[in-house]
Amino acid sequence: MFKKIPGTKDILPEESYSWQNLENIGRKIFSCYNYQEIRLPLIEEASLFDRTLGISSEIVQKQMFLVRHGKNLFALRPEGTAPIVRAYLENNLDKTVKFIKLYYLGPMFRLERPQKGRLRQFHHLGCEVIGSTDPYVDVEIISLADNLLKNFSINGYEIKINSLGCKQDKERWAEILRRQLTPHANRLCADCKVRIKKNVLRILDCKKPGCREMVRGLDLKKESYLCPDCLMHFGKVKEGLDLLKINYKVTPHLVRGLDYYTRTVFEITHTDLGSQDALGAGGRYDNLAQELGGPQIGAMGFAFGMERLLLVSRCKDINASSKNLVYVIPLEEEAKKQALRLLDNLRKQEITADMDYENKSLKGAMRKANDLGAKFVVIIGEDELKKDVVTLKDMVLGQQRQVKRQDLILNIKKQISNRLI
Ligand code: AMP
Repeated sequence: MFKKIPGTKDILPEESYSWQNLENIGRKIFSCYNYQEIRLPLIEEASLFDRTLGISSEIVQKQMFLVRHGKNLFALRPEGTAPIVRAYLENNLDKTVKFIKLYYLGPMFRLERPQKGRLRQFHHLGCEVIGSTDPYVDVEIISLADNLLKNFSINGYEIKINSLGCKQDKERWAEILRRQLTPHANRLCADCKVRIKKNVLRILDCKKPGCREMVRGLDLKKESYLCPDCLMHFGKVKEGLDLLKINYKVTPHLVRGLDYYTRTVFEITHTDLGSQDALGAGGRYDNLAQELGGPQIGAMGFAFGMERLLLVSRCKDINASSKNLVYVIPLEEEAKKQALRLLDNLRKQEITADMDYENKSLKGAMRKANDLGAKFVVIIGEDELKKDVVTLKDMVLGQQRQVKRQDLILNIKKQISNRLI
């Protein structure tokens, strides 16, 4: 028997309803903020990610699902931002619409060691705003993330924000950190010893206790590395968030694992998630389009991990049984023909309907109707055929009566609308 690859998941019907719920709420909220959906290929040239995420990033170093085809090297997308900027430039949106607000949802792939909340195929629900450096875009995006979580019935999360500054600021910051850390390098973990030279900012979010303790002792004042423009930008972001009364915490050691981030970065964590506590994260990437051969253009986005949202959300509990399912039970061959026509009519009137295809006994079929959460059952047997009626059972009230065949749909509709009042 074949088994699924570790770190992938089968989403069976009983669970997929929660997914639809999450997706529907997500689409509704994005639409309120005037974002449009973008759908892109799951596979891209691998070098797109090398170039944008950074060759020393963990994703490029260890986690890419690579597919070699002749001389070409493709990658299953590990994230959505770089492909969206690729599509923005390739479709000349930088020359036409210029400013655009996009959202997306779909699978991402990272070759990680699977554990709770960490999969090899997982799903992002995210957005990108391309074409502006306005700090109020940052405010909109962070408040949108906050509003999404509220609508997913999630509470108990924390929004952490920071500013990395522009490219020059990041270099200045890296130098300051290097100066502070080098004398104590022997106390860092093996990975961080390498990071000191290659990617010193990443030391700030190393999870090893020794490194964390070192980081806590660092002097991380923004004024020491942010230029006046970036300091002002960050000030306006905070001011806007205060105006909207959004709870956030400025977290000086918050950095993101990818090279392309500049200025505002943020992360939303939830204590119920355990060691993989990030629900989502995002930030500005004002140099990414240029990195890909386009113009310098301001942009910002974020992504939530949908599996993690579902681990802590209460909106998943609303289940499918609210549907008005009509379940038809034909008790003999001739009745099946009528059932077929009846199903067709019901569905054309947009009433959810199904029938017993397993030729169960009446008792067995009734049990099945119950399990499916059917609101009505229609029984057609010998007696009903003779009298040109059907037996209609209201499963909520537990009442049953015979009704004329041609009056059935009208009867069901009436009962549904009575129930809505
Ligand atoms: P990232 O692009 O790494 O910032 O990811 C954004 C969000 O996606 C994270 O905060 C997680 O919620 C989710 N995520 C990232 N990697 C994984 C993974 N391997 N499995 C499940 N969710 C993930």
